[in-house]
Amino acid sequence: MGYEEMWRDLLPIGRVSGGGHRRFSWTPADRECRAWFAEEAGRRGLTVEEDRNGNLFAWWDVPGERRDAVLTGSHLDSVPDGGAFDGPLGVVSSLAAIDLLRERGVTPARPLGVAVFAEEEGARFGVACLGSRLLTGAIDPVRARGLRDGDGVTWADAMAADGHDPEAIGPDPDLLAGIGCFVELHVEQGRALDVPVGVASAIWPHGRWRFDFTGQGNHAGTTLLRDRHDPMLPFAQTVLAARDAAARHEAVATMGKVHVTPNGVNAIPSIVRAWLDTRAPDDAAVRATVAEIRAAAEKAAGEHGVAVALAEESYTQVVDFHPDLRDRLATTLGGAPVLPTGAGHDAGILSAHVPTAMLFVRNPTGVSHAPEEHAETGDCLTGVEALATALEDLLTS
Ligand SMILES: [Zn+2]
Repeated sequence: MGYEEMWRDLLPIGRVSGGGHRRFSWTPADRECRAWFAEEAGRRGLTVEEDRNGNLFAWWDVPGERRDAVLTGSHLDSVPDGGAFDGPLGVVSSLAAIDLLRERGVTPARPLGVAVFAEEEGARFGVACLGSRLLTGAIDPVRARGLRDGDGVTWADAMAADGHDPEAIGPDPDLLAGIGCFVELHVEQGRALDVPVGVASAIWPHGRWRFDFTGQGNHAGTTLLRDRHDPMLPFAQTVLAARDAAARHEAVATMGKVHVTPNGVNAIPSIVRAWLDTRAPDDAAVRATVAEIRAAAEKAAGEHGVAVALAEESYTQVVDFHPDLRDRLATTLGGAPVLPTGAGHDAGILSAHVPTAMLFVRNPTGVSHAPEEHAETGDCLTGVEALATALEDLLTS
């Protein structure tokens, strides 16, 4: 299938009425995405394999052992109501780039793999890049098995229900050892590009923290203000403190997910559980921002007789992409601009183990993780050309 046909088949999978996508790990939409990938890879004569961690690989092999492979690809899962491009653009472009390499008559000197990493967004189980973290040993498999979704279902149970063996998850040094480098193409997620394609320099350090504000549930009508221990109040102050702290440290901080217990209109909440996402150009700025937010939360909680607990759910240090690979890509692409990003990617996880680089495709509005996420077809096709050119350089030298 050509480029347009691949999108035609992929776009409806997991699409919700508002136009966004819900493609969560081990759900029917996820299964459909995986089937779509296997079919497209099979059509191209690629060998599709699933590793022990639920990551898919489609291989264009060369005679002999699979070693020093060039890996590309991205992910197909989405955030709630996510856009069409974040992840899928890298997968579709990788397959289209293979078509282009064959049209150009390229004979690879080493294997080429297209990866589809599992649970990149962490939308269902809370830890981003879970598939690549498991592969590289960046997360303890025991912890991963026990991660729970919003309904209390564990990663292990969800994986098993979809026909995969959760006991087998964990680091896969043999698979990693065969990979010579990784190049992930991704839609750009700010408004940082004024040309169609750029090369990534770094990923900002970023993390997720969970606040539990525990107060006392009570009647909204009869409980005097002075008698209340309302956890919503310190939560609200924490949201505002996060914004202020981020501004002071040239960071970004977001509280975009909150669970209120019991979540009743006429009830003072007993527990407010809320998640903080913080990112900045360097580790010190992230740490300082979170420390200030924590201090503000504790102060506000104290003022309202509410207990607060803070747990770090994940943290990823600054990723500087492989300088030689980065420069090689920028040069091969005729001096493409080099830029950092505040968004996390599997490429950031892989980069601790193999030389890794990223290509970004222009996003005219900068909107991402929302249905309005967009990239122009012309820019996407320029991205396919750029990826094919970069892969050809890596495969044939
Ligand atoms: Zn992504």
